[in-house]
Amino acid sequence: MVTLHTGKSYDVIVVGGGIAGVSAAVAARRQGRSVLLIEKASCLGGLATLGLVVLYHPPLDDGQGQKLVGGIAEELLHLSIRYSYGDLPEGWAYGAEEKPGKGRYQTVFNAPAFALSLNELMQKEQIDLLYDALFCIPRMKNSRCEGVSVETKAGRYYYEAKAFVDASGDGDLLHRAGVDMVERPENALTFWMLSADLDSMQKAIDAGDVGKAIHIEAIGANPHEDCLDRDAPQYGIRTPEEVSEFIMRGMNMGLARLKSFERNKRCLVSIPGIAEYRKTRALVGEYTLSEKDRELHFDDSIGCTKEEFEPYRIEIPYRCLYSRQCDNVLSAGRNISSDGRPRDTIRLIAICAQTGEASGIAAAMIAESGKAAADLNVALLQQKLVKQRNRLHF
Ligand SMILES: Cc1cc2nc3c(=O)[nH]c(=O)nc-3n(C[C@H](O)[C@H](O)[C@H](O)COP(=O)(O)OP(=O)(O)OC[C@H]3O[C@@H](n4cnc5c(N)ncnc54)[C@H](O)[C@@H]3O)c2cc1C
Repeated sequence: MVTLHTGKSYDVIVVGGGIAGVSAAVAARRQGRSVLLIEKASCLGGLATLGLVVLYHPPLDDGQGQKLVGGIAEELLHLSIRYSYGDLPEGWAYGAEEKPGKGRYQTVFNAPAFALSLNELMQKEQIDLLYDALFCIPRMKNSRCEGVSVETKAGRYYYEAKAFVDASGDGDLLHRAGVDMVERPENALTFWMLSADLDSMQKAIDAGDVGKAIHIEAIGANPHEDCLDRDAPQYGIRTPEEVSEFIMRGMNMGLARLKSFERNKRCLVSIPGIAEYRKTRALVGEYTLSEKDRELHFDDSIGCTKEEFEPYRIEIPYRCLYSRQCDNVLSAGRNISSDGRPRDTIRLIAICAQTGEASGIAAAMIAESGKAAADLNVALLQQKLVKQRNRLHF
């Protein structure tokens, strides 16, 4: 018999402390709401830190010197390199609006340093944080979520809130709340590791830049459909065995690479501490962003960007962040309602921060007004985003 302990009540609960979840928590808190962030790992950042995706790339600019992404996404770009190495071009000083620097508005970063700074940020913002806490089940009343149960080492706890953000990357909260999701198991095997060797160490010494000692060993397929080997196995999260096989076979690829290293000359620095899934479940939202929306303007846009490998710009409608099946849960990050190539854009780190910030503000507005996500004053949400230095339209 499992006892359900009752924890505190909050205005907003965010499930998942990846880039989207951190951004949502900060955004909701800056609206004056009490916030609980629930993270199953012992470190924040999700794929960006534990997954060793140590690239704040693609850039926050459009390549023509125009900054498209600001707000918390830009703040986190700077935070990612605050305590360690990074190569943000000088021309892109924080706050630059439309000044082309030499290079693009992007950087590599040190994953552990970024994780430690995210932990510091949570404390500065007075966000309550549960580490090593696995969200399990929502308690639903009609189309509203009243609270969530969380499995911890201290037992199972129940926390209530007025509004929620699902930033689990896999839509765990929305899926378990019974909301329609699409499950597209299209992840080819991937395993990103970090390594160093004597040559790279010498280069780092010569340049006086320790970051140059680290290589990203990006093993596995490129996500872009044209580059995918059609016969390669594709993985999803449909069974525990499938998830474990994805991780295990990834490690096998990592070991094969490791065996090719010259002993004592090259070594591994780190392997991922999280399954490196790019796309799993996605919300079937009020609107699904897809290729037909390229270069289109939306009245309810919450942010804009440019696709990574394509010339197209996209705007992200607020309607991609919620479903009418659940009034007070917003989606943020790589599980928002999207399809095709735009889905490969919205899952990028900076854009996860962008949708996280919009969801966090929207959740704060739901907590304050008691309204459903679909009935929020979108113009007010947009005003708040612009006030936080976000750009809505390209
Ligand atoms: C191999 C690879 C290469 C990539 N390359 C790039 C790149 O070059 N540039 C780029 O911008 N992006 C890249 N990406 C994409 C990018 O890293 C991710 O899409 C982005 O970081 C996702 O952020 P997120 O916050 O939405 O989700 P995640 O990072 O997945 O975070 C979700 C968080 O929720 C937690 N969580 C999950 N379930 C629960 C639960 N039930 N209870 C509590 N906590 C839970 C997880 O532990 C995690 O911390 C890459 C991704 C991969 C896999």
